[in-house]
Amino acid sequence: MAPLWRGAGKPVLGAVELRRYAGVMASLNAAELLMGVILLLQALAAAMWGLGARMKAVPTVPAWHWVGAAGFAVAVMALSLLGRGVGSWLSHGLSNMIAPGSFILLRLGLNILLRAERADGEHLMVIVVAVCCGLVGVSQGAPWLWGVAYSSLLNAYCLLRSAQAVQAHGPLEIGRGAAQVLAATLLGLALLFLSRALLALTLPQQSARPISDPTEANLILLTVLLLLGLLVHLVLGMAVTLRLVRRLHELSRRDALTGLPNRRAADELLDGLLARQRDLGSPFALLLVDADHFKRVNDSQGHAIGDRALVHLGALLQRHARSVDLVARFGGEEFVLLLPDCDHDTALQVAERLRQEVQDEPLRLGGRKLALSVSVGVALGQAGESSAALLVRADRALYRAKNRGRNRVEFEA
Ligand code: GH3
Ligand code: MG
Ligand code: MG
Repeated sequence: MAPLWRGAGKPVLGAVELRRYAGVMASLNAAELLMGVILLLQALAAAMWGLGARMKAVPTVPAWHWVGAAGFAVAVMALSLLGRGVGSWLSHGLSNMIAPGSFILLRLGLNILLRAERADGEHLMVIVVAVCCGLVGVSQGAPWLWGVAYSSLLNAYCLLRSAQAVQAHGPLEIGRGAAQVLAATLLGLALLFLSRALLALTLPQQSARPISDPTEANLILLTVLLLLGLLVHLVLGMAVTLRLVRRLHELSRRDALTGLPNRRAADELLDGLLARQRDLGSPFALLLVDADHFKRVNDSQGHAIGDRALVHLGALLQRHARSVDLVARFGGEEFVLLLPDCDHDTALQVAERLRQEVQDEPLRLGGRKLALSVSVGVALGQAGESSAALLVRADRALYRAKNRGRNRVEFEA
């Protein structure tokens, strides 16, 4: 049968190259073929991270580190493939020496993503050990045992430390589930290299061989390396996406000026408290806190000082509320406080304390002080009531506080 690259007996463009490619492929043993696949997949991963970083679709600094990590993996495979057949000690020696670079960059990117310590000193030490061991190996004519053992141990060390960082910092940044999958994948890779080193040290005849030798141990190692290497990039992609989703979720519930939870967050908690009251009968209170004559603050001091006054009020309310209470900016110069497990007397005590604190703590503007005050409307959650009905009652109390002279607390049953 005519080869595929021949069209009607006539060679098409690139036929020579295709034939050469087929020739090379046919001459590869199973280990070399697996290495070729790893090389291609890692090159693809590097391209994806690079593209993501350029488009700013992923956190750029970690992504560039992972471009480097995948790039190192490509270089390791390429160098080992270059030494194919001949068993060149130089290319294998070099690939062993640079292999830990891939895992150092992987860990650095992770540490940056997860806001863990960068651990630069530790990485420098790994590089120095790798270079020293590599040079000793090359100068000694690279006994395979030496290269396989030190390189695999350093790889395993970097991977173990990465898994540790993911376990410690991952749950907060990317969620518990993703952190567990990522840590398990890194741990799996670490165990793979650890067993390679142990096998080489205990059974040097069979195991301390160049990676391109199609021994049983090498074929298993390369297959697992291919799968876990791919999994690492997939899980990293998932982690980056999850982190973005968490950030967006967080941002959508936070007020940009005061840094307090916003109305959306307060509405969600309010629904939760109403459901708890309906199901368990747990009492709670709602306080509407409105800055008095705030328009005058803006008009006399300017909008920028008005903004500072709002930040000041938010911080005061936050500081003097109970630790279980939610303080949120409800909109404009209005704040809402949700007080779980709170009865009528406690709600009025908290409201009065907050009003007093605002009165006693003016906003300091250089040498001057800007006096502020708030009016507070208090209402208790009632079983079976909607959030809208509760807010209407609190608003009615607030309206009464304004009408009765401001800087005071009113309750609506
Ligand atoms: P009252 O005592 O009756 O509540 O009077 P007030 O002036 O506080 O109420 P009014 O509703 O008339 O005015 C509210 C003012 O709050 C007007 C608005 O410009 C100001 N304000 C709302 N949001 C912001 C903000 O984000 N920054 C600043 N600087 N001012 C704001
Ligand atoms: Mg006001
Ligand atoms: Mg208002």
